[in-house]
Amino acid sequence: MNIDAPRIGVIGAGVVGLTVADILQKTSKANVTVMADGFGEDTVSAVAAGIFRPGTTFRGPTKEITKKWINDSWHYWQDILKSSEANHAGIFSFNCYVYSTQSYQATRNRLIEDLVPYYKEMTEDELRIAGGEQKYGSCFSTVKIGCDNYLPWTEKRLKRNGVRIVREKVESFESVKKKYDLVFNCTGLGARYLCDDENVVPIRGQIAKVKAPWLKASFYSDYADTYIIPGIDGVATLGGVRNYDSYNKKFNKHDAAAILERCYTLLPPLRKALVVGHRVGLRPHRDIVRVEPEILGDLKVVHCYGHGGYGVTTAPGTALHAVSIGMDLLRTKHKL
Ligand SMILES: Cc1cc2nc3c(=O)[nH]c(=O)nc-3n(C[C@H](O)[C@H](O)[C@H](O)COP(=O)(O)OP(=O)(O)OC[C@H]3O[C@@H](n4cnc5c(N)ncnc54)[C@H](O)[C@@H]3O)c2cc1C
Repeated sequence: MNIDAPRIGVIGAGVVGLTVADILQKTSKANVTVMADGFGEDTVSAVAAGIFRPGTTFRGPTKEITKKWINDSWHYWQDILKSSEANHAGIFSFNCYVYSTQSYQATRNRLIEDLVPYYKEMTEDELRIAGGEQKYGSCFSTVKIGCDNYLPWTEKRLKRNGVRIVREKVESFESVKKKYDLVFNCTGLGARYLCDDENVVPIRGQIAKVKAPWLKASFYSDYADTYIIPGIDGVATLGGVRNYDSYNKKFNKHDAAAILERCYTLLPPLRKALVVGHRVGLRPHRDIVRVEPEILGDLKVVHCYGHGGYGVTTAPGTALHAVSIGMDLLRTKHKL
């Protein structure tokens, strides 16, 4: 520990908090501590399908900032993908087929059309891959970040590089102000309580896990939120549901039946795949993702939360922005 270095606390050990801590340990000489009341399996991040695919409800304060977060994230994930660590980090690439029975526009993703290396309208042959009489489609290359691998891989690297990791529930910013010069708030849905931010709203999700090692691409359709995403371990994720403002973390068998039936219709060979589990998670949605500084008395805070259904996709871009705000705060004595 360097006693002259600034003391930085990161609250939260989901994909956002661990990515912030990773960038901090790589780019600064600070003494970094990660505090969280939930790690690994206990985070929403561990429930995520983990596909890089920003949706239209993902928004930063301006269009330009939103786009920068997405672009920076893509390049961050690509760097890991191209490294010898990709497998350990749970990152791999594949094609994503987005179908619609209604319109071509419904299949487009303008946020990444000019970013990913391969993006095009589907051919007739590609349209015929899926069931359910799909008429329109877009296909693009993307990546998956499997948090079952990425979270422990990052945690291990952090510990190896001297970052302290502690299990602790932070009840208030007041309670940590003497210990740190700067704190990053990466608490996801927890921010609703920690900063009394009523703009953070849960969007309940449920997924099924099935054994499908033969699945090498992902599929979406315009049935209410139907998706099929391959896994690095041969276990695919089938989804999903989006229950706005629901705090219900319990498994719902009717949701499960509907998810499986919609996915079987979209990709009939899945009917033979063994169902090995179900997961439920509350996406931490905020109309505008909050990446901004706040001075609370003597404590400097940088918020980074509210990523909704796109936190795995966009963790790096938002984390890089948050860290740059934090470094500016440490350099200057702000009165905001
Ligand atoms: C079914 C489902 C599928 C999804 N699929 C995708 C996908 O394919 N692609 C994608 O990009 N995103 C997806 N998401 C969204 C993604 O999971 C979230 O956006 C992301 O996990 C949010 O990360 P986070 O680190 O902000 O929050 P979390 O993972 O919830 O982490 C929050 C952390 O803060 C800690 N914490 C909270 N309050 C406190 C406190 N007071 N004191 C101490 N610690 C605290 C928690 O213990 C935890 O460690 C999906 C989500 C669900 C539910």
